[in-house]
Amino acid sequence: MALFVHKYGGTSVGSPERIKNVAKNVIRARSRGDDIIVVVSAMSGETNRLVALAHEMHERPSTREMDVLLATGEQVTIALLSMALEAAGCPACSYTGGQVRILTDDAHTKARILDIDTDRIRSDLAAGRVVVVAGFQGITEAGDITTLGRGGSDTTAVALAAALKADECLIYTDVDGVYTTDPRIEPKARRLDRITFEEMLEMASLGSKVLQIRSVEFAGKYNVPLRVLSSFAAGPGTLITYEEASVEKPLISGIAFNRDEAKLTVKGVPDKPGVAYQILGPVAHANIEVDMIVQNVAEDATTDFTFTVHRNDYRKALDILQATCTALGAREVTGDDKIVKVSLVGVGMRSHAGIAARMFEALAREGINIRMISTSEIKISIVVDEKYLELAVRTLHEAFNLDREPDAV
Ligand code: ADP
Ligand code: ASP
Ligand code: MG
Repeated sequence: MALFVHKYGGTSVGSPERIKNVAKNVIRARSRGDDIIVVVSAMSGETNRLVALAHEMHERPSTREMDVLLATGEQVTIALLSMALEAAGCPACSYTGGQVRILTDDAHTKARILDIDTDRIRSDLAAGRVVVVAGFQGITEAGDITTLGRGGSDTTAVALAAALKADECLIYTDVDGVYTTDPRIEPKARRLDRITFEEMLEMASLGSKVLQIRSVEFAGKYNVPLRVLSSFAAGPGTLITYEEASVEKPLISGIAFNRDEAKLTVKGVPDKPGVAYQILGPVAHANIEVDMIVQNVAEDATTDFTFTVHRNDYRKALDILQATCTALGAREVTGDDKIVKVSLVGVGMRSHAGIAARMFEALAREGINIRMISTSEIKISIVVDEKYLELAVRTLHEAFNLDREPDAV
């Protein structure tokens, strides 16, 4: 007998009909004689609705109260799914994160899972029940409710699969696998049969929201077989695997993008040791994460310093920089929150020169101006104006023939 963890996202549990459909899928899987643990998200739109409600009460609600509120979304769907399962004759039992005892640290709204108590789940499974667990939430040692960051139900599912040594963790969603890029932006995107953990991690961290980054980290670390597939249509989906030396690597596996970016520039900064620290120190101090950083070559003993942050932190970062600008005797601060980051990802990139040139040539042909560039061994990221997002993604998809099966390289 095998053990599977199924995870169903917001769209898949977005209406009573869809929840009944999930129940059918679970019952079908169970009829093969396997044990099933189901993790569900809140109904689609619910977490956003709760966030908006909170902001009607308080401009900056406390993160502790935010978690108490946000965790309610998943509490609704676990109960409804258990009811649907029981109505169809399948014994089931639902648990919130706290009831399982998914122990987390106390970093409210972005907590990390520390430990999972599997006793209750194991005894339910042994008694023949399907166990339904609320995604995205846990509890601290002190008994406070926490949430794991947006998209966190993926991480709950993988963490449960790791803790219970499940045979596979199946992430059921509204697309039938991981594609070369978001199929909503590029209809010619191609589903991948397999993708390595390394590539999936890079895609997720560069903005592909199909899996939460932490879920991929967790799966890689604990060797959890992970598959992304559709909750609406049958199919093999995409398997996230370890790199196999024998398998030839495609040059580029996909294109990720991130709309949540903003960029800030301090102009006319005196070019002397310590300025980068003087600029970024106060930003880090305010808990603002910095992504790309570019410092121009100095002219006239001054330089321009540019970096990107999450769009939500843009105003705060701008205020901090104004103060730094005065203190440093720099010329001025400018900013732009209508930019996006587009990234080309592929482990095959490592061994090939000329990828960047091909990328920039394709963008130039479409008249897309590149505002920033950053590279690593397996990715090239560019920042462009938001209005070019779709065009840039489609242009690169075409330029690297991603709609076609890769030839051996
Ligand atoms: P769920 O609610 O099931 O967790 P999400 O909305 O979080 O679903 O993730 C699925 C969505 O991810 C898809 O609808 C798709 O628009 C988006 N997506 C982004 N990049 C990709 C990609 N490379 N492959 C597949 N889907 C992607
Ligand atoms: N409901 C949460 C969200 O919308 C968690 C999840 O869906 O994974 O982010
Ligand atoms: Mg998701």
